[in-house]
Amino acid sequence: MYILLMGPPGAGKGTQAEKLINEFKIPHISTGDMFRAAVKQGTELGKEAKKYMDAGGLVPDVVTIGIVREGLAKPECANGFILDGFPRTEEQAVALDGILKDLGIKLTGVVNIVVPDAELVGRVTGRRICKACGATYHVSFNPSKVEDVCDKCGGNLYQRDDDKEATVKNRLEAYHSQTEPLIEYYKKQGVYKEINGLQAIDKVYADVKDSLAGNN
Ligand code: ADP
Ligand code: AMP
Repeated sequence: MYILLMGPPGAGKGTQAEKLINEFKIPHISTGDMFRAAVKQGTELGKEAKKYMDAGGLVPDVVTIGIVREGLAKPECANGFILDGFPRTEEQAVALDGILKDLGIKLTGVVNIVVPDAELVGRVTGRRICKACGATYHVSFNPSKVEDVCDKCGGNLYQRDDDKEATVKNRLEAYHSQTEPLIEYYKKQGVYKEINGLQAIDKVYADVKDSLAGNN
C-alpha cells in the first residue's frame, strides 16, 4: 500500500500512521519527523529547517523535496509506505508525481483527515510525544496511564517547541493557504478519500482502512 496522509496540523495523521505501520509493517515517511531528527542531531539541514519550524512556516520546497526523494528511493519503501506531512505545496505535489513515476509506483490512496480549526488548537497544544519511541499522546483525549511517561516504552513525554498556541496559528494559516488547495489536485487524480477526523481515534482508523479497502 502506498498511502498519502493529508490533513491540517493536529488532524491525527501521526496517530493514524502509527496504527497503519503496526498493522501493515510498512515504513512511515514523515517530513516533520525527519526535520525534528535533523534538528536534534544539529545537522546543517536541521539548522536550516528549525528557522521555519519555529515560526510555524514551511521549510523551502527544494530542501523538503530532496529529503523525500532520498527517503522513497530506499529499498524498504519498495513495497509500500505511509507518507505523512508531504506534500504541503503544489510544487511538492508535482515533484512527488515525478518521483513516483521514476520509481514506477502508483498511490493506493490519498487520505485526508478533516478536522475544523476550532478543534485543532486544543489538539496541538495538548499533544505530548515520547522522547524515546516517538509515540503520540494527548493530555485529555489520549492520555498516558502515568503522567508524562510513555505506556509503550517508559520514555519521558515532551511538548514540541512548535506546539505552543502562538505558533499553531501560523501553522494553520500555512495549511489553509498552501496545503488545502492540494485537495483539488488529488481529487482530479481520482485517488482522494475524505475521513471525518472528529471521531474517536479507533473509529477514524476503521474509516481510514475502509477507504483503502480494495485499493491495494
Ligand atoms: P498530526 O500528525 O496530524 O499533526 P497527531 O496524530 O499528532 O496529528 O494528533 C494531534 C493530537 O491530537 C495528539 O495529541 C493526538 O493524541 C490527538 N488526536 C489524534 N487523533 C485524535 C482524535 N480522533 N480525537 C482526539 N484526539 C486525537
Ligand atoms: P509536522 O510534524 O508535519 O507537523 O511538521 C512540523 C513542521 O515541519 C512544519 O510546521 C514545517 O515547518 C516543517 N515541515 C514538515 N513537513 C513539511 C513539508 N512537506 N514542507 C515544508 N515544511 C514541512
